[in-house]
Formats: sequence, structure tokens, C-alpha cells
Amino acid sequence: MNLAVIGLQFGDEGKGKIVDYLSESFDIVARYSGGSNAGHTVIYNGNKIHLHLIPSGIFQGKKCVLGSGMVIDMVQLMEEWSEVKEYGASGDILISTRAHIVTSLHKKMDALEDKKRNIGTTKRGIGPAYETKMKRIGIRVHELFDTDKVAKKMRIMAEMWNIDADAKEIQREAEEIYYAAKYFKSNIVDTEIWLNRAIDDGKTVLFEGSQGAMLDIDFGTYPYVTSAVTLPGGASTGLGIPPRFVHRVLGVIKAYSTRVGEGPFPTEIHGEDAEKLRDAGGEYGATTGRPRRVGWLDLVLVRYSVMLSGADELALTKVDVLNGYDKVRVAVAYEKGGKKILYPPANIENCKPVYVEMNGWSDITDDAFRQFVELIERETKAKVKMVSYGREREKTMLFKK
Ligand code: IMP
Ligand code: MG
Repeated sequence: MNLAVIGLQFGDEGKGKIVDYLSESFDIVARYSGGSNAGHTVIYNGNKIHLHLIPSGIFQGKKCVLGSGMVIDMVQLMEEWSEVKEYGASGDILISTRAHIVTSLHKKMDALEDKKRNIGTTKRGIGPAYETKMKRIGIRVHELFDTDKVAKKMRIMAEMWNIDADAKEIQREAEEIYYAAKYFKSNIVDTEIWLNRAIDDGKTVLFEGSQGAMLDIDFGTYPYVTSAVTLPGGASTGLGIPPRFVHRVLGVIKAYSTRVGEGPFPTEIHGEDAEKLRDAGGEYGATTGRPRRVGWLDLVLVRYSVMLSGADELALTKVDVLNGYDKVRVAVAYEKGGKKILYPPANIENCKPVYVEMNGWSDITDDAFRQFVELIERETKAKVKMVSYGREREKTMLFKK
């Protein structure tokens, strides 16, 4: 059985820990979208490690695939690779020949555009990398061994974006990328062929989603989204495997909500309450260090994400962060134009959350916590299978139902 693990909110649901925990029982962990905008936090041997490009299965000694749907910063990949090796990770990576790469020009463009448009991107060049991909002028991993070609494409990009770029600088970067590619030469393969064969041979795959359903390019809160498919359909298109190979989907949700960057956030809270929650949850971006916006659990969005993704099982994370709260609020509907609605419209900017107020819990054995779980299951029709109540792997509870 293959399993996709995806975030059902705005990212940062705690997928890293869940993937690390579950990957033990899979042969392969494969990422299908995004790039170093992702920040997956894993605790290994007591060390806290932020992964951006390498799938979180690396610490379980797994074969980790970076699929063609990803946009890869090769220089950063090399740095991340030496970091995980230093921490003692025994896994290996395979990089798709067809994945697109992120250059300094993409990052520069990302920063320039974000100044004007204020999406609050991670400035990792993600949007521009998908832009050059769709424009059919992108640089793919298999081309990296031809530095002249890479430099030429970079010059075309610089011209298109009106970025002042020194020809020598471009040549130097093309060479730097070449050395990174050379270093990974034996890891660069046609991963779609490798992966289909592996599945045919009975190997099992965990598909690691990045970001969250509400940052999906089509169904997220556009334009405040990332530029990739975050929903599990992306596992098929971003890895080159038939949709039928995605057997199950596990959705990860946090007991409350967070969002980094701009965009509508109906259940957002402000002031002292927000600060308290942010500090309790350590809600600062793993990639950019930005303080995350925080709010109550929004089951309207989760209900929608469950429908879109087919996640019939949920992992509920960071429930310990709410320990000791007297009351906990959960949005179960929105009010818009005097009407009560259960699913988000295309624009949720003027939606007012309709809350249910629940008793808080002091830990997961409390009856109040059981009622919280039951409310989630009732409202989303998905089953809560796992509960994470701390960073460490041991602080995970499995529900057998
Ligand atoms: P981009 O993906 O860097 O283009 O950023 C687009 C939006 O997605 C911004 O609001 C980012 O903060 C958000 N975003 C991108 N990656 C992540 C993530 O891994 N976790 C949370 N938010 C993210
Ligand atoms: Mg993250």
C-alpha cells in the first residue's frame, strides 16, 4: 500500500514528524512538488533539523526521490545533503532528470516581484521557477552538465525579467551548478522509470506532500498560494506514476491554524492571545524565521481539503500546545452575505467563522480532548488515526479504529 501524506491547512501542520514516523514502514519516500520553500522539521538523535529539499524519510535510511514536479536549488541541495550526512542520516536520494532548477535569477525575481505584489513568498525562487517551466524556457536537471547551455538560458531569463546580470557572474553560477550536478551524478536518474519499476516489484512508497492544501495553486486561497500542486494529484503528475498508485491519503492537521505570509485567514487571532499561542507552539517559519500568523482550527477549510484530497484519515498534531486552555474554539461554518456555508467560496476574504466553543484539556487523556477529536471527525467525515503531542517520535498516539 502506498500512502500520500499531505497538509490540509496552510502548511506547517507537522508533516515532517509524521513522515519521519511513518516512513519506517515504507521502502521509498518521494516528494512531488515545491522546492526549498518547504521547511520540514525532524528531530533525530535529539537534534532538530529543518529539511527543505530532501524528503523526511532520509533519517529512516530510505531511498528518497526528488520528483520532476519539484524545483530544485542544486547548491542548496548540496549543503542540505552534507548537513543530513553530518547528523548521521543513512538514506539516499534520487533526483529526477526532469526536475527544474532554481537559480539566483529566480530568487532575485521572486524578491523583486514580492516587493510589488506582497504575497509574502519565501523568496526561494519558487514562483519564477514554475514560471520558466511553464514558459518552456526552464533549465532541467539533465541539462546541467552543459554549462554553456545553462548560461545561455540564464541570460535569456535575465533579459526577460530585465535583471542586470553580469555575463561572467552567470558563467560562474552555471559552473557552480555544474559541480553540484557532478557531485550528484549517480543520483540523477529518470526517477519516473525507476519508481514505476520499484512499485511493480512490490516496493511501497510514501508520497510526501509539501505546503498545504490551502496553498495549492488551483484550490488554495489564490493568489496567496504557492505556485505548485500541493494536493495528492500532484504525486501522479509530479512523479510520473499513474493515479491508481496513490492508494491512500493521510491528511495532517494542526489543532489550531497558522499561516505565513499574506492572504485571507478567517479564524486568525490577534494581540496577546495570538502571542501566547505563537510562543507556545514555537510558530516561527522553519524556512524564513518569520513569525507565523495564528488562529483557531478552521474545519470549513479542513472539510474542503478532505474532499479535495480524499484524505479519509487524519493525523492531528501539536495538541499539547493547547494544553491548559480553558476554552478552545473551532470554526464549523462560515457566514457570508447573511448565509451560513459549509465549504469555502473561491474568495474567503469576507467570510466570518461560525465557532463552536469547547472545553479545553490539560492533556490527551482528558474527556474534553476526546470531544475535540469527535467534533473533527463529525465535521470532516475523516477518522483521526494519529495524534502528535510533542516533537519527539515517542509523543505520538495511534488510534486503532
Ligand atoms: P512561495 O511558495 O515561496 O512562492 O510562497 C507563497 C506562499 O506560500 C507564501 O505565503 C509562503 O509563506 C507560503 N509558503 C510556501 N512554502 C510554505 C511552507 O512550507 N509552509 C508554510 N507556508 C509556505
Ligand atoms: Mg514547514
